[in-house]
Amino acid sequence: MQKFAYILHGNHHHYPRDKQRLFMPPVPSLILSSIIFGTTYLILGSTAFMFFPGFMIGYLMYGTMHYAIHAWNPPFKWMKPLWRNHHLHHYKNEHNGFGVSTTIWDHVFGTMFDLKNEKEDKEKVQELMFDKKA
Ligand SMILES: [Zn+2]
Ligand SMILES: [Zn+2]
Repeated sequence: MQKFAYILHGNHHHYPRDKQRLFMPPVPSLILSSIIFGTTYLILGSTAFMFFPGFMIGYLMYGTMHYAIHAWNPPFKWMKPLWRNHHLHHYKNEHNGFGVSTTIWDHVFGTMFDLKNEKEDKEKVQELMFDKKA
């Protein structure tokens, strides 16, 4: 399980600037998505054929968002806290700030950073970005 979690997420912490490690590799992706589809099919029956594409689109949007956070500056000012939240998750405390596309669950589970008072560490943020020089 720990090894699986590393494939899914841990290696992104070790190599945050490696684009290849942002999305899950194909084989674990196929295994995991088959399990998810199988489980929802058992519970929902043929409704799973509607649920699953929605779930996948949501996951891809999350993945794209995560990519954007490591690739570009926030396109809108209101998105800045999301960028800050994920950057802090990388360089300050990986047990806080799990939200990528929304911070709502960090509020629910009490893992929220104090974004208003956290200063941006420009150097450390640079180290998380794909193309920029560290
Ligand atoms: Zn990241
Ligand atoms: Zn993490």
